Amino acid sequence: MSQSQAWLERADESLMQNYGRSRVVMTRGEGCFVFDADGKKYLDLFAGFGGAILGHCHPDLVNAAAKQAQQLWHVGNALHTIPQIEFAEKLQQHAFDGRAFFCHSGLEANEAAVKLARLNGLSNGGKRWKTVSLVKSFHGRSLAMIAATGNPAVKDGFGPPVPGFVNVDPHDWAAIENAIDDDTACVILEPIQGEGGINLHPPGWVQRVRELCDAHDITLIFDEVWTGCGRTGKWFAHQYEIDNRKSASNCVEPDIMTLGKAVGGGLPVGVMYARPELAALLTPGKHGCTLGGNPICMAVAKTIFEVIERGDLVAHAAKLGAHAIERFKCAKSIEHKIIDVRGRGLFLGIELAHEPADYANRSLQAGLVTNVTSKKVLRLAPPIDISASLWDEGIDRVIGLIETL
Ligand code: PLP
Repeated sequence: MSQSQAWLERADESLMQNYGRSRVVMTRGEGCFVFDADGKKYLDLFAGFGGAILGHCHPDLVNAAAKQAQQLWHVGNALHTIPQIEFAEKLQQHAFDGRAFFCHSGLEANEAAVKLARLNGLSNGGKRWKTVSLVKSFHGRSLAMIAATGNPAVKDGFGPPVPGFVNVDPHDWAAIENAIDDDTACVILEPIQGEGGINLHPPGWVQRVRELCDAHDITLIFDEVWTGCGRTGKWFAHQYEIDNRKSASNCVEPDIMTLGKAVGGGLPVGVMYARPELAALLTPGKHGCTLGGNPICMAVAKTIFEVIERGDLVAHAAKLGAHAIERFKCAKSIEHKIIDVRGRGLFLGIELAHEPADYANRSLQAGLVTNVTSKKVLRLAPPIDISASLWDEGIDRVIGLIETL
């Protein structure tokens, strides 16, 4: 029996089967590569659903974690710690003016955001409490966030739904306007939908939502759990959305931005980041998280930003992404197999003409960690520090894989 097989038998007897896991046990990672229990090497073009934004065991992140682990482990949020402050300042440097709240996951960040939007909606005698979100969105798996998520499969079996959430079709502007009423506290949207199939909004659409929210005094939340931290070729994907009404930042800004995945580089970090006037509503006792902002996680998060700055990796992701789109679109051998290639930076979706059978296993057999979402959208989200030559090799190998599908 192989090493992997032995572990898989133990897994079958000890783990819940709530993930559609492939029968592979990973034991080691290095840069853009991971290795299974039998020593097979894989090129990781998905980075653990985007978490490992700087790949596996990046020496700077390992050092940051080890140094912090020897200095201060955990004290809780009744006290201040330096890594939280330093990391919050990094967010201020690269996003709009705001204040940070730390938790462990994207879902928790979104929950906190909706709570804050409700506080805002109910302030000054208001009665706004409802959330409008989009069809094909994904916002997490708590009871409230499955209500926000615009995918019936995610909700199935967990009814009755938490009240106060309306999912609208982003392509139907009248539906969006109709969904907004005197009870609406917030709109939540992903600047690029991730789980829904790497869906970009049409030019000007996000600004229109911003204007609608402004007109009705509604809090606008951007869920940047997938798209934050340089993945899309901007620090945050909303920075692609030009706001021609504004001169200062020149982009469409939210009132609240949520982060997860990449912000911890693979460690459990979530962030709810809000404009100062909104953040001021979260007075002591209104919200919290025992382990949120743990010093080790924060030291790593801050270091991720420093490594990205130092290596100019945001621009690198933009360049490599544009190159990949060009290559996939021009690849003659697969032109009959694909109907669209889309995305920004190193957040790419290749929509296949047909739903591929047994995709995950075929990708792993080819030594590639990739992913399919929305049945037939092949997703690539490699570590953003992947070298140009390795990325080209990866593109060749993905084209080779698509040829066989
Ligand atoms: N928001 C978006 C856009 C996501 O893609 C996800 C997870 O995929 C979440 C929120 C939930 O994040 P987490 O799994 O960290 O709770």
